[in-house]
Amino acid sequence: MCTKWLDEPDLRIAEFDRTYVLLNRDQFFPGYCFVFTKEHVTELFHLSPPVRQSVVEEVTAVAAALYKIFKPDKINYELLGNMVPHMHWHVVPRFATDPLWPRPIWSEPHQEVILTAEEYAERIGLIRQAIFATEPQRH
Ligand SMILES: [Zn+2]
Repeated sequence: MCTKWLDEPDLRIAEFDRTYVLLNRDQFFPGYCFVFTKEHVTELFHLSPPVRQSVVEEVTAVAAALYKIFKPDKINYELLGNMVPHMHWHVVPRFATDPLWPRPIWSEPHQEVILTAEEYAERIGLIRQAIFATEPQRH
């Protein structure tokens, strides 16, 4: 996760003050993004209050953008870090029509959905545009 921003340039959506935003390569859940901290930490209590506040605002901006584009029934936010010890949020639009609804995204395996390069670029462009249209005012 520390080098994911460098390693996966084709999935980059946005760089914020405290986090990076990447599209998940598996788009089984359309719009599934990762928001991961620039700081190598694992727990919210490792972050100073101002940094933590920025991280939450940045996750919120991504969620609002995904909601606007995909119009899901719910946004899921998952912050686990059991397997990858660097803070990364799974921000996942969920639909009542998806086969795993209303269970967590990991409740059963699914076939990965891999897009074409053009489809990734188009989806990333939409999300980026929506993020910067809905981003809250900075102080
Ligand atoms: Zn790290």
